[in-house]
Amino acid sequence: MNYVNITGETGEKRIILVRIGEIALKGLNRSTFEKNLYRNLRDKLKDFGDPDIHWSQSRFYIVPKKLPFDYEQAMEAASSVFGVVSSSPAIACRSDFEEIRRTAVKAAGEKIAALKAEGKTSGIKFKVETRRGVKSFPMKSPEISAELGGTLLDEFPELAVDVNEPDFILYCEVREESFVYTDIVKAKGGMPIGSNGKACLLLSGGIDSPVAGYMISKRGVKICAVHFFSYPYTSERAREKVLELAKIISKYCGEIKVMVVPYTEVQLAIHQNCRDELGTVIMRRSMMRIAETLARRNGCAALVTGESIGQVASQTMQAMYCTDAAANMPVFRPLIAMDKVDVIALAREIGTFETSTLPYEDCCTVFTPKHPKTRPSLEEVIAEEARYDYERLENEAVEGTETFTCG
Ligand code: ATP
Ligand code: MG
Repeated sequence: MNYVNITGETGEKRIILVRIGEIALKGLNRSTFEKNLYRNLRDKLKDFGDPDIHWSQSRFYIVPKKLPFDYEQAMEAASSVFGVVSSSPAIACRSDFEEIRRTAVKAAGEKIAALKAEGKTSGIKFKVETRRGVKSFPMKSPEISAELGGTLLDEFPELAVDVNEPDFILYCEVREESFVYTDIVKAKGGMPIGSNGKACLLLSGGIDSPVAGYMISKRGVKICAVHFFSYPYTSERAREKVLELAKIISKYCGEIKVMVVPYTEVQLAIHQNCRDELGTVIMRRSMMRIAETLARRNGCAALVTGESIGQVASQTMQAMYCTDAAANMPVFRPLIAMDKVDVIALAREIGTFETSTLPYEDCCTVFTPKHPKTRPSLEEVIAEEARYDYERLENEAVEGTETFTCG
């Protein structure tokens, strides 16, 4: 994309500078990545007065159309967009050294005031880091840093230079225009949603599956969700909880279509017709078949679950082998090698933990057998399953599915 003049006639503008991941950015992928990210940023920021979003050289520049503009909230919103690595509130100015100098004094002054408000009143240490992206600019980076450092020392007597342990860094980027800032706020990273296809998440009301949805989305995968609902064994509130969880992760994953499958009849049939010890694995296979049908109808190429190896009886390698054999599409398990404590930490970070730990049971806990087989063989599972025709009930469940849009 061609460079767009940001500062315009005003000579100076407050913007948000957004850095994007560069690892996967080669050739055609790069433009898909950037276009998706642009679209996702634009959608995310439309509630902030629909700011202009420019992009150039692995950077996005968010430029308010009108003031006042809530920079802090807008930056937080931008940071929740997958593909964004970090962002900075910055002041853009013309690439003229005297303007850069004035801007540096302003940015440093604001940072010093903020540090003082935090109780740091004397002996503030700083350094300047300059990147010169246009060779036409007459000064080289070290020269710019030295000049700006000198100016700031003259201007603010409480400052001292310390290149090893500064309290703040004044960053100066000289490009077609220049950008001065003091803060870099880490964002979620990952890849922009839409750049890696679509998958269907099996979303329970528990801690794990919302986190799994978040993680797969972070790799650029658009998700929809399936929830198996066993009314009246699970209450209306359990369904509300699942919709609420979808809404919470939609902050990162974008709008989520949630399909609620009436699962009671299938679950009762399994309970009545299967040996107790194989009930769980047979139920999971049935969930996979239903989820796959709904996934295909929604253009998804994979299923996603919140399973982690060894966590419970149905999450042994043998049980997962039996489960996967029922599906004719890949089953992704982003949490497979994670410890529960780490899943919980992530659930807290993304804001799902409190809702996940509300007491309403999901359908799995109601019919949980006392002694599920941890190492079922596929042959015995298939033989046990063949004793009853679940297909008809599964088809009815698919057709009775209710759809909600969350986010
Ligand atoms: P979670 O915390 O996600 O509920 P879990 O540790 O309780 O997981 P299980 O109950 O064995 O484990 O479920 C494993 C996975 O199966 C879940 O992560 C989810 O992807 C899927 N799943 C379980 N129950 C349901 C349900 N009622 N609706 C949709 N998916 C479900
Ligand atoms: Mg569960």
